[in-house]
Amino acid sequence: MNAPLTLADRMTDLGTETAFEVLARAEQLSREGRDIINLGIGQPDFKTPPNIVAAGNQALIDGHHGYTPAIGIPALREAVADDIAARRGVKVDPDHILIVPGGKPTMFFACLMFGEAGAEIMYPNPGFPIYESAIRFSGATPVPIPLLEDTGFSFDPDDLLSRITPNTRLIILNSPANPTGGIISTNALDRLVRGLAAHPHVCILSDEIYSRMVYDNQPHVSLLGYEEIRDRLILLDGWSKTYAMTGWRLGYSLWPEQLIDLAVKLCVNDHSCVNAATQYAGIEALRGPQDAVDDMMVAFNERRGVIIDELNNIPGVSCVMPGGAFYAFANVTGQNAKDLQTRLLEDAGVAAVAGTSFGEYGEGFIRFSYANSTENIEEAMRRFRELLAAG
Ligand code: PMP
Repeated sequence: MNAPLTLADRMTDLGTETAFEVLARAEQLSREGRDIINLGIGQPDFKTPPNIVAAGNQALIDGHHGYTPAIGIPALREAVADDIAARRGVKVDPDHILIVPGGKPTMFFACLMFGEAGAEIMYPNPGFPIYESAIRFSGATPVPIPLLEDTGFSFDPDDLLSRITPNTRLIILNSPANPTGGIISTNALDRLVRGLAAHPHVCILSDEIYSRMVYDNQPHVSLLGYEEIRDRLILLDGWSKTYAMTGWRLGYSLWPEQLIDLAVKLCVNDHSCVNAATQYAGIEALRGPQDAVDDMMVAFNERRGVIIDELNNIPGVSCVMPGGAFYAFANVTGQNAKDLQTRLLEDAGVAAVAGTSFGEYGEGFIRFSYANSTENIEEAMRRFRELLAAG
């Protein structure tokens, strides 16, 4: 019998990230001896480059075992500021950079800062599921920004702007995007920023965790490039994807002057600081050689070509070419996304995530992460085709 505990109402509002449930089930099936191909979870299949691992080891040997400042060690924040200057062409104050355990805390903190009953927060749908979860948990009303396939999973800036009300406090954007691989065009960003001038009460959280994962020699266009909104922009990025460091838990965010102290206070309340050795590893990642990142991108690009070709050759399936990240968001119109996710895993041994796990606009889609070997991708697509052919 359970104890008669009374939980806070907000606990019923907390969502989840289905990819973790799919991962747990996939691992369970593997332990039972099933041959499972994991195209479910969004993490590089590469190991962290050895120079970064060595720097983390060395930090432990050197005795970096204690707390660090909650905001992060100065040398790491300076390395981030230099990286932002080099890649985004903007000089930022290292004291506005916050080191956090991964990408997720920044979105949670931003939602806690702005969300409460009566507030509205806009978020991409389909989009990273933690946005909607954190918004609901904060008590705010989530207002979806529909991302549609026929706009390359971008959005119409006029439509977005028309959804802003006096209660809108925060807009979350993500480019390159999970789960679609879509990229917001420069034209759309230009028009959005121009329109935001009429709504100075709205803060913007730009999730650019896939900023290094853009294909076809396209530059990553950062919202940080727009000076007009810099005093109300929160920029989120990190090491998880770029340096194959998902398990280290290391991310950063850049906060406007009026928010940084509050963000640091949230860190002090939540986790004190990021693991010290991990922060030293993060410096090596940014300052050390970048060829491992380039090599990973060559591999992802090759696999992107393979999986999109394969998907477009399966009857009843189509998939637009993603411009970034490492996800294929396949259109399986006519299929129930959740059922297909279950059948793929249980019957065909392929872990993938239903489009509806990313919001209601994801119905009729399924997400495959192509952070896996070409052979595994080909075999997974063969199984997918067979499953659909069997009806
Ligand atoms: N933002 C997006 C768009 C993501 O896809 C992810 C991870 N899948 C994150 C943030 C979170 O990254 P982290 O694992 O570093 O918390």
